[in-house]
Amino acid sequence: MYNRCLKDEHMTKAIRDRAIKKANQSACRYKVSAIGLDKKGNMLGCAMNIQRFSRGGGSRHAEMNLMAQYGTNIKTIIICRTNRAGDVCAIDPCQTCKAKADELGIKIISIQKEGN
Ligand SMILES: [Zn+2]
Repeated sequence: MYNRCLKDEHMTKAIRDRAIKKANQSACRYKVSAIGLDKKGNMLGCAMNIQRFSRGGGSRHAEMNLMAQYGTNIKTIIICRTNRAGDVCAIDPCQTCKAKADELGIKIISIQKEGN
């Protein structure tokens, strides 16, 4: 049962599965994926976080990658974090991504752990 995940109209089982799968592909310690949806709920693209050790830079967040690529075409971003076992963990967008999303009029939704 995934009724809890269907609170939002866009949060379908297919999107959830896709987000989890994508997050698991990340090589980072914190595996995070983001899926961008347009105003009709169609998937524009998905991204995962990429760790960078360049001077002064942390990792670039998956949601930031999406916003850089699709900009205001995105209406909703779904973010997901998994642990090494592939289980969903709680995640919230950081201040920077949140501010950028607000600026672009994008709503960020996090995938919640099942059974909470
Ligand atoms: Zn961020």
